[in-house]
Amino acid sequence: MEQFYISVARIAKKTLNHMVAHHTPLLPDLYSKYFYVFLDEVDQEIKDMIDAKDNNGKRELKQQQECTMEIVEAVVEVINGLDHSTKSHSQNLDKHQKKLKGMEKIVDLVTLRQLISEEIGKVQESNASLQHKLTQAQQDVHKLQTQLAQITDLATIDELTGLYNRRALFSRLVEEHSRVERYKENFSLMIIDIDDFKNVNDTYGHQVGDAILKNLASFLKGNLRTSDFVSRFGGEEFIAILPSTDMTKAKRVAEKLRHMLGKKVFEDKKGEVKIKITVSVGISQCTPGDNIDSLIKRADDALYLAKDNGKNAIFTEEDLPTSN
Ligand code: GH3
Ligand code: MG
Ligand code: MG
Repeated sequence: MEQFYISVARIAKKTLNHMVAHHTPLLPDLYSKYFYVFLDEVDQEIKDMIDAKDNNGKRELKQQQECTMEIVEAVVEVINGLDHSTKSHSQNLDKHQKKLKGMEKIVDLVTLRQLISEEIGKVQESNASLQHKLTQAQQDVHKLQTQLAQITDLATIDELTGLYNRRALFSRLVEEHSRVERYKENFSLMIIDIDDFKNVNDTYGHQVGDAILKNLASFLKGNLRTSDFVSRFGGEEFIAILPSTDMTKAKRVAEKLRHMLGKKVFEDKKGEVKIKITVSVGISQCTPGDNIDSLIKRADDALYLAKDNGKNAIFTEEDLPTSN
């Protein structure tokens, strides 16, 4: 009997090998079919054993066959189970592989995250450094701007009065002159000179003289239009440019200034010294074809005319002898 089972197992193995080799689905009915094919064709010993059985034996054989079938079915079941579990394992493996891949990704991500984190750290450091440099650069730029502004101020602003200086005046005169040429406009130039200022210095001292120069500068700036340009030409002389203003209007402006100045009393800080000053004004008008030197000279000549005519007066180039 043992030999019988060994033989059955051998046929079962053969059947299975055949089915696997031919990619036959491991289904019980197919297995049975192949099993009996191999049983018929291959194993004469088993056939003989079966043939040798008597009727009683046939019942036993039938039982054995059933038992064999049960075994075969069980084997198939196991195989199917294995197949299923293999598939399941395979699927699981796939899943795991995917998971692993996912995990690899996660590992990669972790690595990547670390790298990114490191890079972010580096970027942050670099940013901080850049920010620092940027702040420094901004401060440097600010310093430079301040210095440039100071240098520009030094170049264009009169230190004592805070008005534009002679350099700025000529620069502006060039601008205004070219505008006159281009747009056929005109502007007026006013030279304002403090009368007998030497006496002020001599009487009250140079410091008081300085204070008066500052005060007069503020007065002029405060009483001319913002579009007008006021500068200290030198000493106690000031030059104002009145854009788009003809001589008649300019004279009116100068009269107003003279009038207001007549009512003004300059005081020292303590209020002990009260000084009244007057100015003389010479006015010229720039028209197309004019030139700056001539413009200033005509205003200066008019000023001297005012001085010659008793000071505290306003004269224009129209008042000059025609030879000028
Ligand atoms: P005039 O009426 O003819 O203009 O006489 P003036 O005395 O005003 O003119 P002058 O040219 O004889 O003298 C100008 C004076 O202005 C002499 C100088 O000491 C004074 N002055 C020039 N610049 C300054 C300055 O920056 N500060 C002070 N305190 N005085 C100055
Ligand atoms: Mg003077
Ligand atoms: Mg003078």
